[in-house]
Amino acid sequence: EDSDIASSPVHSIPPIAETKWNDTASYKKKKILQSWYELPDGNWELGKVISTSGTETIISLLQGKVLKVQTDCLLPANPEILDGVDDLMQLSYLNEPSVLYNLQYRYDRDMIYTKAGPVLVAINPFKKVPLYGNEYIEAYKKKSIQSPHVYAIADTALREMKRDEVNQSIIISGESGAGKTETAKIAMQYLAALGGGSGIEYEILKTNPILEAFGNAKTLRNDNSSRFSRVVQCAEGERSYHMFYQLCAGAPSALREKLNLRNVEDYKYLRQSNCYSIAGVDNAEQFRNVMEALDVVHVSKDDQENAFAMLAAVLWLGNVSFTLIDNENHVEPVADEALLTVAKLIGCKVDGLKLALSTKKMKVRNDTIVQKLTLPQAMDARDALAKSIYSCLFDWLVEQINKSLGVGKRRTGRCISILDIYGFESFDVRCFPVFSVRLLFATFTSAVVDLVRAMLQRNSFEQFCINYANERLQQHFNRHLFKLEQEEYIQDGIDWTKVDFEDNQACLNLFEKKPLGLLSLLDEESTFPNATDLTFADKLKQHLKSNPCFRGEHEKAFTVSHYAGEVTYDTTGFLEKNRDLMHLDSIQLLSSCSSPLPQIFASALLTQSEKPVVGPLYKSGGADSQKLSVATKFKGQLFQLMQRLENTTPHFIRCIKPNNMQSPGIYEQGLVLQQLRCCGVLEVVRISRSGFPTRMTHQKFARSVASQDPLSVSVAILHQFNILPDMYQVGVLEDTRNRTLHGILRVQSCVR
Ligand code: ATP
Ligand code: MG
Repeated sequence: EDSDIASSPVHSIPPIAETKWNDTASYKKKKILQSWYELPDGNWELGKVISTSGTETIISLLQGKVLKVQTDCLLPANPEILDGVDDLMQLSYLNEPSVLYNLQYRYDRDMIYTKAGPVLVAINPFKKVPLYGNEYIEAYKKKSIQSPHVYAIADTALREMKRDEVNQSIIISGESGAGKTETAKIAMQYLAALGGGSGIEYEILKTNPILEAFGNAKTLRNDNSSRFSRVVQCAEGERSYHMFYQLCAGAPSALREKLNLRNVEDYKYLRQSNCYSIAGVDNAEQFRNVMEALDVVHVSKDDQENAFAMLAAVLWLGNVSFTLIDNENHVEPVADEALLTVAKLIGCKVDGLKLALSTKKMKVRNDTIVQKLTLPQAMDARDALAKSIYSCLFDWLVEQINKSLGVGKRRTGRCISILDIYGFESFDVRCFPVFSVRLLFATFTSAVVDLVRAMLQRNSFEQFCINYANERLQQHFNRHLFKLEQEEYIQDGIDWTKVDFEDNQACLNLFEKKPLGLLSLLDEESTFPNATDLTFADKLKQHLKSNPCFRGEHEKAFTVSHYAGEVTYDTTGFLEKNRDLMHLDSIQLLSSCSSPLPQIFASALLTQSEKPVVGPLYKSGGADSQKLSVATKFKGQLFQLMQRLENTTPHFIRCIKPNNMQSPGIYEQGLVLQQLRCCGVLEVVRISRSGFPTRMTHQKFARSVASQDPLSVSVAILHQFNILPDMYQVGVLEDTRNRTLHGILRVQSCVR
């Protein structure tokens, strides 16, 4: 690639053969010996500065290529002694290429963790790295290793929890496939090991395979992606939740018979994506692991079987088909094996199921009228029921596990919460800079398919919710790392020039303001029976056109300026997704079932509908009035989460995905840079470095100085100025006249 770039016509500046970088005497006088030079593809290359005159600099790139360039195209590079420092704070020059280089330097040596001031940056190695296990856990526990690590973060959290008696949180964020879930597991592994490796800690660890089986699926970006709605729809090459495949492959024959289980290919929900396996994963074996884990966390055999019956019911629901019953396009389900099996598995009458899938009750004034459904409406009702059963099953399972582990009962103790949250998401051609597009012309890998799909895919309601949540989390991050710290300086009367950071309050207001914010307007429009996605988009444009974070686009689209960049949303499907199609008829059906789980699900669904968490009720004229909109429920849950986090000391881990191929050893600068920018890593380092993190009264400082020898005091002072051992040396000066020895300190000049 390098040679391609070197011969590219854009940069065919004639080589200056006679000048070698190391024979120019003058460069030595310059402070800056090395510089970063931006290549046309957006990558940076290191060059040695030969000479600078006026606005031009001559630099020698790797492989001896010498260029004359505009000086302002260059950024200073750090001296080699700082190669691979384990905290970006230690870099003399803090610019993007220097940070990228430092992270890459470490990544190439399997040092995937780097501190960015208070934040831990973790770059996904996409391979086993020798950094984990008991020996490492012991070493971090004893503090005999200092390198940045998830273990070190978990250790700090535990220590601070005990010391300050304050709950802690470890907030892990990053794109899909960046390694959040793995990182969360690594943190749990450390905490579990410290607890002695048995008992409750072991049980908590065992919840991972269960939650992953029921909550994760293969996507094009990640074979084990933590997902939320994908029971009824799944793109080519992706899979639904792992558990379905595991059940079909691993269920013992008695269970298969009882649930009338077939092979994965026989179920429409699983067939649609044309993908059943994951390289290197044995579904049947995984099924046994999950069963074992369910035993460990004390989910009874009966409950396990009930849960599997619900999975089978969801799969069979997908196979339910419909037939026309009149000439007004109304349909009813075909009474075939699929319908009969569903009825049997959930324990309801076949007629009741038929009715729930083909009619909708509506309240008009005081009368109830029954409306027949057309094919698309009936299919929606069927899919909504399947989704509901699955999501209720997931919630129920989590509740069972929590109950059996006694979560919530041990109120006396402090806790450490680990948050593994999906990152900012955007499907947009404009969001993929040059480096990714370049990939398109490379070999036809799955990443390319992913990119093409991403480009065609539109940002819909799901991205809208995800990005809103991330906007809130970013504010939490900002508040802790920038705002609170700086406010404290001002409070302490310190002379301090405020460091600017992207305050995203304006964007949050755009979402949350009442009555004229995105969420309120969405809820309002959702209540109008005649509203369409187009009228919704028009309404937004009408009310929000002067908001600087908002821009109306063509027809049904609008753009939001998020902290991570602009995202254009397509309102197609917004109203329907926000209304949530689960009809009261289906809830009633579930409550009439004789199997234990559907009844529990029905009451859970009713409670959810009736009790507002936060925010106004979403009312509509139909039978499902008084039902909370999806966006409002989401906002309520988000607020609860934020409230919980606010009462903790946060520890942040930012996971970075170095390439889109899920391959080891490939570090794409552009992709990494985009993620670093999104999460404000550079700003954090900047403020941390220019900040005054140590806070001490004069008395305490004087005491600590007086009690120590002069060398320790000197070293401590240097340390406070971030001048690290690499940058100074302690020598001895012999005073021959007085026959005394003096300690001497020699310090490198710091170029900042
Ligand atoms: P999503 O948002 O899609 O859930 P995620 O950020 O949770 O994605 P993970 O599932 O944690 O991503 O990681 C994706 C894959 O990357 C893992 O299945 C694993 O193969 C690899 N991986 C991540 N972290 C590590 C690590 N520390 N060591 C080895 N492999 C890792
Ligand atoms: Mg995950």
